[in-house]
Amino acid sequence: MGFKETIQFIRDKFDTKDFINLHAPIFKGNERKYVLDTLDSTFVSSVGSYVNLSEKMIAEISQAKRAVAVVNGTAGLQIALQLVGVQRGDEVITQALTFVATANAIHYNGAFPVFLDVDYDTMGLSPSAVSDFLEEFGERRDSGTFNKKTGRRISACMPMHTFGFPVNLDDLLKVCKKWNIPVVEDAAESLGSFYKGKHSGSFGRIGVFSFNGNKIVTSGGGGMIVTSEEDLGNLGKHLTTTAKVTHSYEYVHDQIGYNFRMPNLNAALVCAQLEQLESFLASKRQLANEYADFFESQTITFRKELENTQANYWLMSVELENLQERNAFLKVTNDSKIMTRPIWQLMYRLPMYQRCFRDGQRNAEFLEERIVNIPSSVRS
Ligand SMILES: *Cc1c(COP(=O)(O)O)cnc(C)c1O
Repeated sequence: MGFKETIQFIRDKFDTKDFINLHAPIFKGNERKYVLDTLDSTFVSSVGSYVNLSEKMIAEISQAKRAVAVVNGTAGLQIALQLVGVQRGDEVITQALTFVATANAIHYNGAFPVFLDVDYDTMGLSPSAVSDFLEEFGERRDSGTFNKKTGRRISACMPMHTFGFPVNLDDLLKVCKKWNIPVVEDAAESLGSFYKGKHSGSFGRIGVFSFNGNKIVTSGGGGMIVTSEEDLGNLGKHLTTTAKVTHSYEYVHDQIGYNFRMPNLNAALVCAQLEQLESFLASKRQLANEYADFFESQTITFRKELENTQANYWLMSVELENLQERNAFLKVTNDSKIMTRPIWQLMYRLPMYQRCFRDGQRNAEFLEERIVNIPSSVRS
């Protein structure tokens, strides 16, 4: 098999005989300086200039009007769903092929995930699957769109841009608009990804990014809610900061909020990382091009960005011919100290989501058996 050549190729690209990570952060910009700044100023916690600066930087990058820094992407998704009106007992449409946080954020709101299929090419939520589902089960009423089989309100649709490949947003937004269902983009993986020249996360009413340690930029842990609706942004800030009302000395809180704000210490790190986003993207694109050229001559297919999109190539992926090939590839590469990982198990395989509604999942199950992530770090 060509795996030997592949292993050699990856080793050459990362120029090491040691273990090669799937995605390791690098801190060669102002990270040290800014983090030390927070210590020197004593503003390490929930207020501080880096929190504000990180929000400003993300608002600019993502082309959204408002950004709210939060403690992690999962918390951001949870609040985003609440902001668009998801309530206990509702249903939220999403994909089964995703990281568990997407489904968990729905569950934290007391809502039920509806797992629909992905498109083969984007690996993200399929507009036709959403349309099919709504045509069969959807019913428009005064108070929203309902699932006529379960009687529950369908109060949001949350697509996820898998590995930084934007979903088919034109078609998805069209379907959701027709059924008057708000879109929240799980853009945790897609900072730096564009669809028809517009940044991911800025299409839905809300988008959410993650700055976890393995993402394209990191704050150690953290996330960002973005929206172009000023009132949603304000309410998002309010809810994630214990719903505290400004007062010169009294503790006044006007509803049940959350302590979901990002500490200044973490914000300092991500500000320094965001300064380097362009160079990170360029480095990844270079590596993706080299992988693409190499895999042309292999039995393994490199997954390339799609027409009309610009992917951030956060985690790069290959498609193996079948499950056996996939397993053989995972074993050989990991045995050779090259970290590779299969795409996630579909959400309905997990014990807590086994009984959720799902459709046929033809593409999701095909991809589940074949997609593997390969080393994708920014090279210094
Ligand atoms: C990373 C990730 C999240 C969650 O982000 P955290 O900051 O780790 O909480 C959510 N959804 C997807 C698809 C992710 O990859």
